[in-house]
Amino acid sequence: MRTAVLEREDGLGGRLRGWPTTLRDGTTVTMTRGFHAFFRQYYNLRALLARADPGLGMLTPLPDYPLVHTAGLEDRFAGLPAAPPWNAVALAARSPSFPARELAGVNIAAALQLLDVDVPGIYRRLDHVDAVELLTAVRFPRSARHLAFEVFSRSFFADPRRLSAAELAVMFHVYFLGSSEGLLFDVPSSPFPQALWDPLAEHLERLGAEIRTGAPVDRVDPGARRRFAVRPAGGPAEEFDAVVLATDTGGLRALAEASPGLAVPAWRELAKRLPGAPPFLVSRLWLDRPVRPERPGFLGTGGYPTLDNISVLERYEDQARSWAARTGGSVVELHAYALAEGCDERAERGRLVAQMHRVYPETAGAGIVDERHELRADCPLFPPGGFGDRPRTATPDPWLVVAGDHVRVDLPVALMERAATSGTLAANVLLSRWGLRGHPVRSVPRRGRTALLRALARWARRP
Ligand SMILES: Cc1cc2nc3c(=O)[nH]c(=O)nc-3n(C[C@H](O)[C@H](O)[C@H](O)COP(=O)(O)OP(=O)(O)OC[C@H]3O[C@@H](n4cnc5c(N)ncnc54)[C@H](O)[C@@H]3O)c2cc1C
Repeated sequence: MRTAVLEREDGLGGRLRGWPTTLRDGTTVTMTRGFHAFFRQYYNLRALLARADPGLGMLTPLPDYPLVHTAGLEDRFAGLPAAPPWNAVALAARSPSFPARELAGVNIAAALQLLDVDVPGIYRRLDHVDAVELLTAVRFPRSARHLAFEVFSRSFFADPRRLSAAELAVMFHVYFLGSSEGLLFDVPSSPFPQALWDPLAEHLERLGAEIRTGAPVDRVDPGARRRFAVRPAGGPAEEFDAVVLATDTGGLRALAEASPGLAVPAWRELAKRLPGAPPFLVSRLWLDRPVRPERPGFLGTGGYPTLDNISVLERYEDQARSWAARTGGSVVELHAYALAEGCDERAERGRLVAQMHRVYPETAGAGIVDERHELRADCPLFPPGGFGDRPRTATPDPWLVVAGDHVRVDLPVALMERAATSGTLAANVLLSRWGLRGHPVRSVPRRGRTALLRALARWARRP
């Protein structure tokens, strides 16, 4: 069997792509699309990466996930008990964001919805509500909302008013009440191409797959000899028996628009309307002096105008570490999600740097040796009421399947893990049609793990 991967960009990795760039000081480094956290609950993504590196030696743990808020509150997720619900109880008990006075005012009946999540049932109950509405109904402590928003909803690149409350509830489940791994994560210890994509590409090529980069697919039509004629831009059509559309939302929208023979009209109409999240900016700065030694590899920030997190790359990435050791500087990355549509990139870059000076004042006097910025808008949006319109892995065409983090997967997974899980499920659909065995798929339990909380939630939902 012949398998070909056609990738639009010059390198693999999508939103975790990387490419070489030469800094003003003459050093060639790898710039990437930005910091990514590989949570321990990412079972299917880890299984995929393990095919190229069974020991996952390319990942290194970060010891904590600290969060600071402009109001002076600080939270950490390391050192919590592993077992749910005690992990959530301990967080609330030790966090300054959950003052006892405000906890007493919580609407227990509404809060129970967050404590008993089942997938996909939670979407039937909460998808029509937005994340802010849910936390308001719960009377979630005001000071703790930044935790919910910064950690969960902003990581969906959306204003919480434009995010389905069900998606927020699934995140609570994945990281607290449904699993024991908590909010701790690993990161690649080299830039993404070296750590992840080059080894995975070699693995695929050893198995006989053909990988073509710089090969955008313009349209997919019915074929003459085989089921599909795939047309790469500027090249002749090639015919295949089956197709996996593993694009981002923009890519799927464009293919549905340009391919009148793809699946059925109703499916194409939904694909054309897939909503996208607002723009976001990733700024990486090579500074001429180090940040203070206690600065962590990753810091979530709440309450700032646009800054969502800061990472200090020499704490975990080999290339940045050797640049910092040689020059005595620091490599710092700033992320700003959910920016205004049509925002001014130059102005946003300046705002991010000014916010970095507030969070890490020692950077105010630092010179910027060089900088790279990526203003993009290629993440999916999960608006209230949108669950029913999400594409599934299977389509009305039995030989056409879809994968990606925008795809509906009836398991408690999100982001990179949703992309990896949907990819495995899509492959399994095709393998089963060929009479071949599929690959195992795992997730944290689909329901809350605490029988008492489940019973209480059912009681609270009674008519
Ligand atoms: C700044 C940032 C930080 C993030 N942080 C995290 C994090 O900490 N943890 C986490 O889990 N997730 C994080 N994410 C989300 C994560 O990047 C995505 O969930 C993941 O990359 C989705 O993978 P995907 O394969 O669905 O899509 P993508 O990675 O977007 O890949 C889709 C691919 O399809 C290609 N393509 C599109 N159209 C065509 C076409 N017509 N022909 C050929 N190729 C095409 C694209 O070029 C791209 O390579 C972050 C995202 C961003 C932007």
